[in-house]
Amino acid sequence: MDLFDLHCDTAFECATRLNGRDFREGAWHLSLERGSYLENWRQVFAVFMPDEYRGRDAVRHYEKVRDYIYRQAKLFPGEFEIVRNAASFRDTGTKCRAIISVEGGSALAGDPARVQLLYNNGVRLITLTWNDSNELGDGVRAEKGRGLTAFGRNAVREMNRLGIAVDVSHLSDAGFYDVAEISEVPFVASHSNARRLCANARNLTDEMIGVINSRGGLIGLNFCVSFLRADENAGMTDILRHAEYLLSLGSENSLCMGSDFDGCDIPQDMSGIESMEELYEHFLRLNCSEDLVKKIFSRNAENYFRKYIFEE
Ligand SMILES: [Zn+2]
Repeated sequence: MDLFDLHCDTAFECATRLNGRDFREGAWHLSLERGSYLENWRQVFAVFMPDEYRGRDAVRHYEKVRDYIYRQAKLFPGEFEIVRNAASFRDTGTKCRAIISVEGGSALAGDPARVQLLYNNGVRLITLTWNDSNELGDGVRAEKGRGLTAFGRNAVREMNRLGIAVDVSHLSDAGFYDVAEISEVPFVASHSNARRLCANARNLTDEMIGVINSRGGLIGLNFCVSFLRADENAGMTDILRHAEYLLSLGSENSLCMGSDFDGCDIPQDMSGIESMEELYEHFLRLNCSEDLVKKIFSRNAENYFRKYIFEE
């Protein structure tokens, strides 16, 4: 089976808490070894930016995780490759094709020139904030819940111009609508579920889901138990529940995977990336055509990135 997953924190975990443990071994939910059964595997690896880093500390942290990811590509040729252009986005025979994202615009350190620099480093998706506020705007847990700053607005325009996907996961509701107003390119919520089913500010309202659907963006299903169910007692069926709900709102062309592997507690009946096969089977047992299941597991994200990020 094919998989295109919009979010995991494996690089951050390996580069920091696990002291540089390599990708073949990986972290808790994902490794090159454990994903090797996949036929066509595209995986977004996030450089997660903790909210306590700002300015030079943020830059230093970003560079550390970025360099770690590049080291893996050197260590495992044929198994792991960083996608930077249309040619490497196409099937090159490499097992795991990685797209680098930054989870937290603090990596820009308030410097507009750094958007281009991150692009040159291979970054193709930026999650504008993490939970707190940063130079770009407020995250979902920021006290005032403000939208984007002037710097954040400019950053979105620059990302549009360069071909970096704008990600609203973790952003405040006001920030979401600012992005909707400013972004000329469809934007994504890389790892967020439906707020109607699980009332968590990290999830999307019906109206937000409608905006992303109508623009042709992406919504990645997040496996984090606290975004699946209020009581956190989640199983794979809860992922299906959110998927069915999103589909009922017209997300058949925007729904995809945003596992959050190695960044959260996942459902008790899953162990990691190897569980995607079983999840796929569950989807087939829904009232879903195989074609639709393939769209959710890979094709929707593939189409988006081909169209807006890795244009031929
Ligand atoms: Zn996250």
